[in-house]
Amino acid sequence: MSVIDKLVARSRRRSPWLFRLNAGGCNGCDIEFSACLSPRYDVEQTGALLVGSARHADILCVTGPVTRGSLAALETIFAQMGDPKAVVAVGNCPATCDVFAGSPVIAGPLDGLVPVDVFVPGCPPRPGDIIEGIARAVAALPAKGARGGKRDAKRKRGAGKKT
Ligand code: SF4
Repeated sequence: MSVIDKLVARSRRRSPWLFRLNAGGCNGCDIEFSACLSPRYDVEQTGALLVGSARHADILCVTGPVTRGSLAALETIFAQMGDPKAVVAVGNCPATCDVFAGSPVIAGPLDGLVPVDVFVPGCPPRPGDIIEGIARAVAALPAKGARGGKRDAKRKRGAGKKT
């Protein structure tokens, strides 16, 4: 592992960058996810940051049962994320499709479509449980190997710069 890769791995442990995708949920899990960013739970205090582009994210947080309409977005977002990356299934819907199971418009559950590292159960789960799930995903990242070298390290460093 190069010096750059070691620095990136060390930085990621303290500042995982998150991307959230609602794959057809009812918004209940998204409200709880948003609460994680509120002053009460303040997940950013731990260094975690919600980013607007999957290309900059280390962890993909998915809510909802994955409708057929959201499947292409899920696949594109997952492909855009650099390695190593982790996926957190937030709520019962991505795990089992929950109340949407059996519907002809559902492509889920999530782990049949992309590899899932952490399941956070609940309908919806509490913010504290979501934060714990994110922490478990961060812990899983080192075992997935280094990100793809200097090019990706440069991309992540430059992601926060204004253009
Ligand atoms: S798990 Fe419950 S709260 Fe979350 S998206 Fe599904 S139905 Fe809504």
